[in-house]
Amino acid sequence: MDYSERQRKVLAELTRRGLDALLVTHTPNIRYLSGFTGSSGALAVAAGHRPRLFIDGRYLEQARQEVVGCALTLAKGALASAAAAWLAQAGGARLLGFESQQLTVAARSAIGRRLPARTRLRATDSLVEQLRMVKQPEEIERIRAAVRLASGILPDALQVIRPGISESAVAAEIEYRARRAGAEAMSFPTLVSSGARSAMPHAVASSCLLPRRGFVILDFGVILGGYCSDMTRTVYLGRVPARARSLYQCVREAQQAAKEALRPGIQAAEVDAAARRLLRRHGFARYFSHSTGHGLGLEIHESPRLGRGQRQALRPGMVVTVEPGVYIPGEGGVRIEDVAVVTDTGCEVLTPTTHELIVIR
Ligand code: ZN
Ligand code: ZN
Repeated sequence: MDYSERQRKVLAELTRRGLDALLVTHTPNIRYLSGFTGSSGALAVAAGHRPRLFIDGRYLEQARQEVVGCALTLAKGALASAAAAWLAQAGGARLLGFESQQLTVAARSAIGRRLPARTRLRATDSLVEQLRMVKQPEEIERIRAAVRLASGILPDALQVIRPGISESAVAAEIEYRARRAGAEAMSFPTLVSSGARSAMPHAVASSCLLPRRGFVILDFGVILGGYCSDMTRTVYLGRVPARARSLYQCVREAQQAAKEALRPGIQAAEVDAAARRLLRRHGFARYFSHSTGHGLGLEIHESPRLGRGQRQALRPGMVVTVEPGVYIPGEGGVRIEDVAVVTDTGCEVLTPTTHELIVIR
């Protein structure tokens, strides 16, 4: 990973925003800029200085091994306060940016008490996240590996699906196989929803038993090399009625339409509109209750969001999910989700799993 390029870019962004320094407290952003994978730390970034990572004693050895291009300080007490105080004193910062979506009100007050009167705090939004949107080739390869690992365990996980097994047992099988295959963790708690519950787009796996007939939505992802994957397949248990087959086909075509729209220069909202248009033609658009996709990387949900009103222009190297769905209350739902990377000419779908309806009888 090219940490020095990332550090240069964040400094350029500070200058552009008129800030002297940035206090980074969101751990995925710390990892992005320094390589440090620990769960607590504070990174101080200021022009004219090497970035400095503040850690506690638990992480000293790990930080020594992982951190690239940054100085280390072993600090006592609140790391964010220590880092801010260093930025104001050694760093000479007058205008100090902090991550407004990541710092608690209590932590902000504590920092304020440690700063000299001449230093002011300024809320920033998505400063590092915006840099993370376009992935470097090495990041894309890590996401690809995570996507492949998850896709690879699906056929075995499907073996346990039968009427009468609980949703949580299916989720357990997926997560067990993922860890056995080398996943560091799941990207999020595995979603398994069956029968009428499949009409709830974000239902976590419950103790409900799989019915004799109906859709089962499986939505899961793994973390590998720090990077997330995310995939959904909807399978059918039992003999498939014509209506269920056409519902599935419709979502599949909507997903295809969105993937065909995905290319550099297009606005995120237009990719969403492509999926929605297809569903509208079949009268299902009102049952599509979420956005078409989201960026992913070190976190499972990143920018850009492929949704209504999202004017972000897509650029080569952005990695997004494409996951339209239709959810009919009392009846059931279908979602199909792949991960795709925007290329110079269109997109490359990283998920190798079939889009045919998988029927389990
Ligand atoms: Zn998903
Ligand atoms: Zn997703």
